[in-house]
Amino acid sequence: MKKNETILLGHGSGGKMTHDLIDQLFARYFDNPILRQQSDSAILDLGTGKLAFTTDSFVVDPVFFPGGNIGHLAVAGTVNDLAVSGAVPLYLSAGFILEEGFPMESLEIIVRSMAEEAKKAGISIVTGDTKVVNRGQCDKLFINTSGIGRLEPEYEHISSGINIRPGDKIIINGSIGDHGMAIMSARNELKITTKIESDCACLNHLISESIMGCRQIRFMRDATRGGLGTVVAEIVKGKSFGLKIDESKLQIRENVRGLCEMLGFDPLYVANEGKVVIVAGADEAGGLLKRMKQHPLGAEASIIGEITSDHQGIAWLETVIGGKRIIDMLSGNQLPRIC
Ligand code: MG
Repeated sequence: MKKNETILLGHGSGGKMTHDLIDQLFARYFDNPILRQQSDSAILDLGTGKLAFTTDSFVVDPVFFPGGNIGHLAVAGTVNDLAVSGAVPLYLSAGFILEEGFPMESLEIIVRSMAEEAKKAGISIVTGDTKVVNRGQCDKLFINTSGIGRLEPEYEHISSGINIRPGDKIIINGSIGDHGMAIMSARNELKITTKIESDCACLNHLISESIMGCRQIRFMRDATRGGLGTVVAEIVKGKSFGLKIDESKLQIRENVRGLCEMLGFDPLYVANEGKVVIVAGADEAGGLLKRMKQHPLGAEASIIGEITSDHQGIAWLETVIGGKRIIDMLSGNQLPRIC
């Protein structure tokens, strides 16, 4: 770390600055073989079987937004990090940092929606913590959730992506950019005709029902902060394969696209909270897609690209007009406090 350097908002973007902070500080000091994997969940061997373990803090502003609230997000975010690791989410913890003066009524709405989301996901919130800080020392409330899930041996390879190979297909369960633009529209009280709703949802049932029986699920990740663009850039980083995304296959809702254009955002890098990117073998991709479409959260699933043997280490977008655009990790900060 350089002298006099300070934390910038970009260090929380989920993009390049976050990665650099993790590599140069946290991973440097905490280094161990489990952390080194840098996957959505840590995979722990307890001797009697494997567990996935993950944690996430939620600081979204505003705490209530179209399609959800901070509590809803705090459950879904952690459940999804377990689910994309191939694990069955089981238990969550919930830690609250509350600002003096925050309305009890609002807190109850948030806690109730956490309970509802947990019930839907089939998990239990089994431990927690509450701290209150003076007025002005945090903004309303922050929530941390940690979660553990059971990981079956057949899915152990998923979080590392070690089996990804050329020819594999890239699948996503629907449109991109909804969550980030829902937050932006709520934050700015923008007068847009069609309301943008966050896609915030627990994906564990969609994932378990879709991948059941599949032998070629190579990798999964939820495309949250940093968006789809950052996920695909991470998949190819330092690897001996490339990744092509077909722009014509990407689904971006009209109102999301419009707001992105108005505010100067690239939908590829806008956060989602209910989208999973799956890399699957070509032979199984069709069947997988079919099963995903049977679930309400996968009704708009599609194959959006593939792993290639050329352009090693590079992810790119094949544009609708036939051009190529390199997809890099998000640099700087697109939207602070999005989750
Ligand atoms: Mg994740």
